[in-house]
Amino acid sequence: MASTDYKFEGWLGHDPSSVKGNMKWGEFEPKKWDEDDVDIKISHCGVCGSDTHTLSSGWGPTPYPCCVGHEIVGKAVRVGKNVKSVKVGDRVGVGAQADSCGTCADCKNGNEPHCFNGVNTYGSLYKAPKERKSMGGYATYNRTPSRFVVKIPDGLDSASAAPMLCGGITVYSPLKANGAGPGKRVGIVGVGGLGHFAVLFAKALGADEVVGISRKKTKEPEVLNLGADRYIATDDDKDWDKNNARSLDLIICTASSAKMPMDGYLKLLAVGGTLIQVGAPDGGELPPINAFTLIFGGIKVGGSAIGTPREIEEMLKLAEEKKIHPWIEKRSMKEANQTILDLEAGKPRYRYVLCNEE
Ligand code: NAP
Ligand code: ZN
Repeated sequence: MASTDYKFEGWLGHDPSSVKGNMKWGEFEPKKWDEDDVDIKISHCGVCGSDTHTLSSGWGPTPYPCCVGHEIVGKAVRVGKNVKSVKVGDRVGVGAQADSCGTCADCKNGNEPHCFNGVNTYGSLYKAPKERKSMGGYATYNRTPSRFVVKIPDGLDSASAAPMLCGGITVYSPLKANGAGPGKRVGIVGVGGLGHFAVLFAKALGADEVVGISRKKTKEPEVLNLGADRYIATDDDKDWDKNNARSLDLIICTASSAKMPMDGYLKLLAVGGTLIQVGAPDGGELPPINAFTLIFGGIKVGGSAIGTPREIEEMLKLAEEKKIHPWIEKRSMKEANQTILDLEAGKPRYRYVLCNEE
């Protein structure tokens, strides 16, 4: 048991204008303590595209005030009596999910991200008798049930590990589940935070070829530097879909626009290929998909949500073993508002990580 005389404070969104640089620093109540919980003194928190969708209420009404941030790393400072997996002083992390019912078929099958009663790390309600909002990691402290708290391997620095907890796992999970590895040619649509992890992990898993697919030609040198074998610029390469038709087995789509050229992406798939959508547009709206593209191509379209705590641990181990270095830019926690504006402007190369000063 450690001292509990600390305050939970963080950047709070009070209305949709918070995404325009209007989060306000303030105190908040975490979930009610119970003996399965872990309190974390946050050292780092990555800045995910989902944070902006939530601040703006783009996915539906956000329960303001809301403290976003779900790529949390820090030190365990208080650990419940029932917790076996973590001890005070451990370096730990929390991704985008903070709890699940633990009893439904999906939880029992190890598919916690699909639990109907799952609790997101921010903007969800913990169920009675513990009813309290979940609050995220643009903050000093975080409280999360231990089932969703993972240990950070010694070989990974905290700033690099933080964005893997959502950005990394969201692409690692579908890459792994869909056989990205030797014998597979993998395309990554949208080389942003998630997409850059997808390039790194697809290479680490041994895919035959990894192709970055973004809009502008200007990103090409960076994406090749990340380790991609090839690059397609959908705004700038003439006839990009025809010229690269049927050249990929798997596409992970991290872009989240209702206007993106989905039919063109699908034409890049070889017969039997699969596109997995992970980018989550406001309102859930995707571009229309032409049935003949699916039928004639013999292709599949699916989706994937984050990953389980076990997959997160597996990914962190792989990142440690393969010495995966994400491209991050550290910012002071004080600069959270400007950082959100810069993310919205597409400036990160490729993930901002907010750091609390010691
Ligand atoms: P990000 O860093 O902003 O990257 C998004 C990328 O999408 C950009 O780099 C951009 O690539 C591309 N893009 C943006 N607008 C586009 C358009 N109109 N057409 C085509 N491409 C476009 O964001 P992120 O953190 O990677 O998050 C990406 C998405 O994943 C968000 O919607 C986020 O909410 C979602 N997400 C989903 C899950 C899940 O469980 N499924 C988990 C985490 C995040 P270029 O500029 O290079 O073209
Ligand atoms: Zn996220």
